Amino acid sequence: MGQKTYTIRCTVSCDACQGSGRVTNPVWQRFFVETRDQKDPDEEAWARANGLSSAVEIGHEEDWCNACEGDGQVVRDVSLWDALTDLGVTLRVRN
Ligand SMILES: [Zn+2]
Repeated sequence: MGQKTYTIRCTVSCDACQGSGRVTNPVWQRFFVETRDQKDPDEEAWARANGLSSAVEIGHEEDWCNACEGDGQVVRDVSLWDALTDLGVTLRVRN
């Protein structure tokens, strides 16, 4: 019999978006941080001061997460041994 390799599918919540599948546009995030003390921040003025022609160029406030493509979770294959070790299971191999 040929050598066997067992692979387990591991599903983890996406770190990049905390499982929501969406991320806040980093440029908007900067806008919110930099203008948080202003009562009525001017998006257009801020955009122009940051080298953009208008606020439209910033794009959507939220985008699909690239890391998980909007799924909120990441699926990867791991070896059976890595999965067991991760779960805290220790086995002795019979020779
Ligand atoms: Zn994600």
